[in-house]
Amino acid sequence: MCSGRVDLAFILHAFSIGMDGVYIAGCRLDECKYITHGNYYALNIVLLGKRLLEYIGLDSNRLRIEFMSSAEAFRFVETINDFIHTIRERGPIGEKEGVKQEELRIRLSELAKLVPYIKIATRKKLSVRLKDPQEWEKLFTPEEIETLFREVPSYYIDPTKCQACMTCARRCPVDAILSGKNLIHIIDQEKCIKCGTCLEVCPPRFSAVTKLIGETPPPPIPEEKRVITRKGKED
Ligand code: SF4
Ligand code: SF4
Repeated sequence: MCSGRVDLAFILHAFSIGMDGVYIAGCRLDECKYITHGNYYALNIVLLGKRLLEYIGLDSNRLRIEFMSSAEAFRFVETINDFIHTIRERGPIGEKEGVKQEELRIRLSELAKLVPYIKIATRKKLSVRLKDPQEWEKLFTPEEIETLFREVPSYYIDPTKCQACMTCARRCPVDAILSGKNLIHIIDQEKCIKCGTCLEVCPPRFSAVTKLIGETPPPPIPEEKRVITRKGKED
């Protein structure tokens, strides 16, 4: 119902299944009949998406957003035709950009994994309402995107601090934490979407979760060393 529902993940998914272009049509800006103004969010997602496409070596013109009312059929047809023309000129995704299909698949899938992190890291900018189109292109700069990728965090559970309270495992949105009663918890780095929830919810008296930037997390402790012996039980 709302262009604001078009998630960055949907856009990347469309490209990953071979779409050569993605066109999003939203209501006219400032004419949203709800209080949400989701079309501004959609605009910002597209502006971010364009920079991300450039970062992975794709032409940002493959992604477009236009705003119109339901009474503007002519505008819809005109902009769609123009978009089709643009995409036909560019040809199949990756071809003109010189990115091989296998490499493209890997780049898009790596990027898709980082969508939650990217959305959290850019949430303030994603919520702005830029009225002046001159400002749109400046919302996300290539330098910012470089920094975003340089600072991708990893989360690590310190086995000497974890008390197996299970809070993090219950709250992890993607079940990326290997949990178990009286077992030191371990983050499955392949599954982790870097949302940072485990860091937020680990009780301060344990502070077992660390955020690492630019460092590879230490390997997980061996299975046989995961069992926590409680003091009372030792006695
Ligand atoms: S950061 Fe923590 S809570 Fe978020 S996905 Fe990774 S392991 Fe789960
Ligand atoms: S919330 Fe902290 S102490 Fe509790 S299981 Fe997770 S890492 Fe361990």
